[in-house]
Amino acid sequence: MGANLIVTGLVLSAMPIGEYDKRITLLTKERGKITAFARGARRPNSQLLAATNPFSFGEFELFEGRSTYTLAKASVSNYFRELALDPEAAYYGFYFLEFSDYYCQENNDEKEMLKLLYQSLRALESNSYDNRLVRAIFELKALAVNGEAPNVFGCLSCGKKEQLFYFSVRKGGMLCADCKKKAEDAWKMTESTVYTMQYIISSDITKLFTFAVSDTVLSELRRMLDEYLHLYLNHSFKSLKILEEIT
Ligand SMILES: [Zn+2]
Repeated sequence: MGANLIVTGLVLSAMPIGEYDKRITLLTKERGKITAFARGARRPNSQLLAATNPFSFGEFELFEGRSTYTLAKASVSNYFRELALDPEAAYYGFYFLEFSDYYCQENNDEKEMLKLLYQSLRALESNSYDNRLVRAIFELKALAVNGEAPNVFGCLSCGKKEQLFYFSVRKGGMLCADCKKKAEDAWKMTESTVYTMQYIISSDITKLFTFAVSDTVLSELRRMLDEYLHLYLNHSFKSLKILEEIT
């Protein structure tokens, strides 16, 4: 016997099944990442039609079977409709969804990832932020939430907390000027980039989208994250390829 379960979540992806149905992946507060079957969700008059599209956020009522969830009802509070009006922002959004789908796990506590994803999509909708910065914040904070961020608070070789001027992806973080020779791949980073990383990693998710950075900081963050994600995540995202083609 199953029981009905109400979860708060965001639709990461939706796949057509058969003629009228869908299978959706949800990132939920209560159960981490789950997949659910949505019967009849592609029928034009279905109550589930819009609720089962990517980006839909709200409450989902599920029938919990022995090994599957079936979506019974949905009450969506945010469709992130502004994203549809701006193709570039939408592709950043699709990348965040694909990243979360790849990075999050079933039956894992993904509350912080859900919060980060929600706030990052809100930031994409707003015109106040550079989308490239929103992406860097999302990626670095996702790593931090999962305990996989680079160490940027002290020299990885001697532990010194000041003058952390060099980043080494192989070491997984910062080195001071005296220790930079210990990593062949270390490159010089400006102090404001180091502070920006420290801020992103240590701040509460609700305070992440509150600042702007210079182009230098932005390009150093990009270089650091490209190297880091390549080495530690090593996954090629379809939505990122499209995003890179259109930007
Ligand atoms: Zn050192």
